[in-house]
Amino acid sequence: MTFDEVRILRSKNRRKTVSSRLIDGVLEVSIPAWMSKAEEARWVDEMRKRFERKSASSEVDLNERAARLARRYGLPTPSSVRWVSNQQTRWGSCSTQERSIRISDRLGKVPLWVLDSVLIHELAHLVHADHSPKFWAVVERYPKLARADGFLEGMAYASGQPTWLDNSHDSAAGPEDDLVDAPPELGQQPLW
Ligand SMILES: [Zn+2]
Repeated sequence: MTFDEVRILRSKNRRKTVSSRLIDGVLEVSIPAWMSKAEEARWVDEMRKRFERKSASSEVDLNERAARLARRYGLPTPSSVRWVSNQQTRWGSCSTQERSIRISDRLGKVPLWVLDSVLIHELAHLVHADHSPKFWAVVERYPKLARADGFLEGMAYASGQPTWLDNSHDSAAGPEDDLVDAPPELGQQPLW
């Protein structure tokens, strides 16, 4: 997936959201009419980045990769592992009820050994739902854990946005963030 040009649509009806979609190789970004040129540029840049993340992440088969890691580390195989684009403050999350794992597509372009460390973290939650010493004993078997953590911290710092692996598990289990992956819309971004 790629695009050759960006088209801006200014809408008087659109008040609080920016959205984008791909039409015939053109990335169409819709913004509210009141936006300044500077805001327009910022949002075009943001939507372009999101699109590129989505393209990069679609090249990695998460289910296959997670299944292989689960076998190697003697962990359960999850029911599903998928990319999500609405997970801005977490690299990954795990629903122990559904036994499903979600990975932020911000990790779509990281080296695979970094992605693997996030997958192992979430796979380990299928055995230990908390961050107990027993949990860490599983996760720390991954030899590149410390390097991967450093890589992720650097990424979060560079983006100016605090991001951590996962701060809660199951607390908000439900379909609340299942509304993102409806192509060709790349997702709506509320402005406030
Ligand atoms: Zn965790």
